[in-house]
Amino acid sequence: MEVSPGDLGAWMTERGHRPYHARQVFRWVFERRAESFGGMSDVPMRLREELESAWTVFSTTVATHQVAPDGTDKLLLECSDGRRVECVLMAEQDRRTVCISTQVGCGMGCVFCASGLRGVERNLTRGEIVEQVVRLRNLLPPEERLTNLVVMGMGESLANLDNLIPALDWICSPGGLGMGQRRVTISTVGLPEKMRKLAAMDRSYNLAVSLHAPTEALRDRLVPINAKVGLRAVVDAADEYFRRSGRRVTFEYVMLGGINDGLAEARELADLLEAKKAHANLIPYNPVPGLPFERPTAEAVRRFEGVLKARRLSVSVRKTKGREIDAACGQLRRRSEDGREVAMGRSTARVGSSPDS
Ligand code: SAH
Repeated sequence: MEVSPGDLGAWMTERGHRPYHARQVFRWVFERRAESFGGMSDVPMRLREELESAWTVFSTTVATHQVAPDGTDKLLLECSDGRRVECVLMAEQDRRTVCISTQVGCGMGCVFCASGLRGVERNLTRGEIVEQVVRLRNLLPPEERLTNLVVMGMGESLANLDNLIPALDWICSPGGLGMGQRRVTISTVGLPEKMRKLAAMDRSYNLAVSLHAPTEALRDRLVPINAKVGLRAVVDAADEYFRRSGRRVTFEYVMLGGINDGLAEARELADLLEAKKAHANLIPYNPVPGLPFERPTAEAVRRFEGVLKARRLSVSVRKTKGREIDAACGQLRRRSEDGREVAMGRSTARVGSSPDS
């Protein structure tokens, strides 16, 4: 997945093969779920052998595959440089949704999130992003297709816009998985410049903005990058996204027990979103071991939702899926990467020493 069909075709030409075999190879991977070259029966045997020795279909390997009792699949993929990323497949009724990562780690530092505990290590490549989707799709029974894709895994999506958009465009193209752009949602911490850049790209991807607080002061505390960008600029850029794309923006609001889940915040949030054609998605916090935040009570969630509904806002409460398998952003990777590490608030302390970790 690190090369395009064009590049692979050129490689074939150099070796005396017809370049159209590249299209066959990609069709095998995207349509017929091939994970190696050996079984690509309409590709000449000699070329298949050359492909086997020079390439692999996937650049990542599966480090762990967990299945939760509710059927949620979570893959921890290991990249060729040994770094690890998570992605998740969720099934409910007629929906099959994948959630993918865009970076190893995250540089935004949201105080409640496991992904950013050690900062950002690097952007994922276009191929690594596409691969997460294809690998998860391959877990589905043959007659099932993916219906939705959310970019809500590890990393700040828009910090890797240059690889993310080509990856999503590929997935949505007829030569990829042919998914509709409207089935795709990109979640961002709220980087106004990048949101405007995305708006100018004229795609139909949905945008979800991680607001988490209705006031500057509270958002500064929970989402440190807010001190640089400001809530107002985030909301303005979201308005522009809606104007240009016609896609209704979702505002995500992680509810942290006793911190941002009160009636006062609900009212302030309603004031902020009132005149907009927007949607609010309330996300009850998934506790991260070592971080001092708690899940809100069911009552707090119900009351918060009630305030928004009374103000006629479109609102939903996210159901938690796959809790048993650490299916919240960055939690599986964190556990796998070390039992040696104990989280202490925002910094981490090593227990024992291991120079290469
Ligand atoms: N960086 C992007 C996308 C990744 S996170 C963003 O900030 O939107 C996807 C969503 O999950 C964000 O709204 C994020 O704040 C939220 N999230 C992170 N950790 C969480 C946790 N432990 N429980 C619930 N939601 C969490």
